[in-house]
Amino acid sequence: MTEPVSDQLLRDFLAATDTACPVCGHGLRGVPEPRCPECGAPLRLGVVTTQTSPGPWVLAICSWTLALGFDSIVALFMTIGVAVARPPLSVGYPYIFAATFLTLSVASLIGLARVIRARPRWNAKPRRVQWRDAGFTFAGVAALHAIVGATILLNG
Ligand SMILES: [Zn+2]
Repeated sequence: MTEPVSDQLLRDFLAATDTACPVCGHGLRGVPEPRCPECGAPLRLGVVTTQTSPGPWVLAICSWTLALGFDSIVALFMTIGVAVARPPLSVGYPYIFAATFLTLSVASLIGLARVIRARPRWNAKPRRVQWRDAGFTFAGVAALHAIVGATILLNG
């Protein structure tokens, strides 16, 4: 069986460069096999881009995930509270409060789904734009919650 061309390219690359194992950091110069001699990690030669580094995308994901977690917990406890209240609560503030957080939960879930689905388009943007959009996402989610929180406090 002949070895894949990529293994020969990898061997040539490692013969000519000081490259560290991406797993354990062991020097790989001159390594003859497509495997790190120190930790055993399989190696292959590839093309990478810094645009797929996940930092900004993860920030956008975390913004919506934190909001979803908070909103859904508040909505759940408010809904349970309204449902089990004795005597039953008349329609009013507690229902609006629960419905508001249920709506925010749905909005956060939609926001999260949109960011996840947009990953290829996200990666195609320059890093600077990715960080800008992640910052806008974080600030937008925070502002939405601040506005809703202030509205609830002022009307409670
Ligand atoms: Zn290694």
